[in-house]
Amino acid sequence: MIVAERKPLEEILRLIDGAKTVLLTGCGGCVTVHMAGGEKEVEVLASLLRLHYKKEDKPIKILTQTVTRQCEPEYVRELADNVDKAAVVLSMGCGVGVQFIAENFPKAWVVPALNTKFAGATLEAGVWAERCGLCGECILYKTGGICPVIRCSKSLLNGPCGGSQNGKCEVDPEIDCAWQLIHDRMKDLGKLDLLLEIEPPKDWSKARDGGPRKVMREDMRF
Ligand code: SF4
Ligand code: SF4
Repeated sequence: MIVAERKPLEEILRLIDGAKTVLLTGCGGCVTVHMAGGEKEVEVLASLLRLHYKKEDKPIKILTQTVTRQCEPEYVRELADNVDKAAVVLSMGCGVGVQFIAENFPKAWVVPALNTKFAGATLEAGVWAERCGLCGECILYKTGGICPVIRCSKSLLNGPCGGSQNGKCEVDPEIDCAWQLIHDRMKDLGKLDLLLEIEPPKDWSKARDGGPRKVMREDMRF
């Protein structure tokens, strides 16, 4: 899932400064699952904002609406009535949601309430970790299901580097060396010989380095 966390309240207040009506909108997708920007979080932030402005004696109207997903047109369009009423749309979706609302409502001023962090997984309650850098050409079948692009601090495709010490990464001793993890797993699986093959330079044009990407499925188009 896309993992995000709420911006500090002071920053959010700066982003909506001066607006008389704000539409605070949540997303029912990833950010609901990890409790950063779903219906509940929208109501909590709306209460905080109302309390703040009440204390400041500044009248403000906070509208709230959470859609199923902010990254799909049919759901984003459900926001139309409230977008028309608001001076600022404050999105609690990920960066994709913020942009997609802006794309669908060219005259709306849309700002993010969250910082979008990474594509990751839940390790335990309240702990999420990055697991995929969305590189466009997955090589997990060569590395025992452990991603060197994102879990090695240097994104080495032929590791480890000379700084790996006692299973930890030289960049931060709190981080496991991804290549140690890969080695250990391949050893357990009896596939260590696969690591003897040198991985050639990666074609980064399939990742973000090639510019914004698009996927088109002809079988789904009409
Ligand atoms: S190799 Fe690329 S696609 Fe596969 S997990 Fe790593 S970053 Fe993601
Ligand atoms: S110590 Fe391991 S994880 Fe850290 S940069 Fe070197 S190979 Fe990558």
